[in-house]
Amino acid sequence: MSGSPTLDELVKLDAEHVMQTYGRIPVAFVRGSGTRLWDSDGKEYLDFLGGLAVTSLGHAHPEVAAAIADQAGTLLHVSNLYYNAVQPQLGERLDLLLTSATGTPGRVFFANSGAEANECAIKLARRHGQSNGGPDRFHVLSAYNSFHGRTLTTLAATGQPQKQETFQPLPSGFRQVEFADLDALGAAMDERVCAVLLEAVQGEGGVQPAPPGYLEGVRRLCDEREALLVIDEVQTGLGRTGRWFGFEHGGDVRPDVVTMAKALGNGLPIGACWARGEVAEAFRPGDHASTFGGQPLAARAALTVLDVMEREDVPRRAAAAGELLTKSVLAIPAVSSVRGAGLLLAIELAPDADAGATARACLDHGLVVNAVTPTALRVAPSLLVSDAEIAAAVAILEEVLAR
Ligand SMILES: *Cc1c(COP(=O)(O)O)cnc(C)c1O
Repeated sequence: MSGSPTLDELVKLDAEHVMQTYGRIPVAFVRGSGTRLWDSDGKEYLDFLGGLAVTSLGHAHPEVAAAIADQAGTLLHVSNLYYNAVQPQLGERLDLLLTSATGTPGRVFFANSGAEANECAIKLARRHGQSNGGPDRFHVLSAYNSFHGRTLTTLAATGQPQKQETFQPLPSGFRQVEFADLDALGAAMDERVCAVLLEAVQGEGGVQPAPPGYLEGVRRLCDEREALLVIDEVQTGLGRTGRWFGFEHGGDVRPDVVTMAKALGNGLPIGACWARGEVAEAFRPGDHASTFGGQPLAARAALTVLDVMEREDVPRRAAAAGELLTKSVLAIPAVSSVRGAGLLLAIELAPDADAGATARACLDHGLVVNAVTPTALRVAPSLLVSDAEIAAAVAILEEVLAR
């Protein structure tokens, strides 16, 4: 194939050679800049999905791109048998962020995705539980409607039976309770439980924030029953919700373990699992590993992302932009409500609306969003999105919904 392939050619190649695990929409993006994307026909879009809350600083951020290029020409990878010049620095930076959010210093393990960050959290919780509570303390409680990843173990923790059905048997020791129901959690918490794993805002589950007081209550239960509180911040972490971490909206939560991924590399694959010191010490050399985890390229991208995030104060920007976006969208008659926090929002349409069709119509009009439930659109744009871009996106949505 010479030159750039056309959309038809890409669709055909994908159909023939790529495992058909995705129900893809027939658009191929070829270039991005900030909040803009261009497809294979040269059409321009406003990206209000950010690759599913991943491109936190927008596409092709110049500083991140330059750091990646510099690191690519210096050293991409060495094995974790040795030190590299970047990983410990990134570890320090993430630990400082989590130390100030939780009040306790800790340590980080680097992985390559959200699911892998959660795998690390689950292995660590079991290791910790078995050293402190004996061989039977290996159960992990999570919530219905949660999402923690697609590996077998994180799928076992993901409270969506329809995603689990065809992959039985899943690893044992995972149970789900209703989200936001402290009594249900309390009833399920016996001495076999080593950890409670929760999202601060259920992202894939429809952008459902934990109600006020819930996470604080979970913290108390975990203290009483000697279970670890693991917060999955893969989607909500690093400024997305208007705070550095989603759990910071929940009062005195102090999670023992926090997982991150999506926003951390601004598109370069990297995941991280942080644990407070005493918990992190349950891992001994040889207990867990990743070939690529914390390699210089991904770590350098993440370090640069954190530089820009801190300089731009992205939590504050996300909070302000989210407020503007919420207010503007609520002025559209066809919108019934908006939920979420910061720049992770669900726009609830009318009860009989078809959010999938609305998202497709938005795409035709040059706006990228997705249907997070049958009746709600998710928006998760760059945390650096401008007021003018918000106004332009809202105008497109208003026009689409007026039809
Ligand atoms: C996306 C997501 C994951 C899985 O991340 P991958 O990088 O796709 O493995 C886990 N937890 C939450 C909350 C997510 O949103």
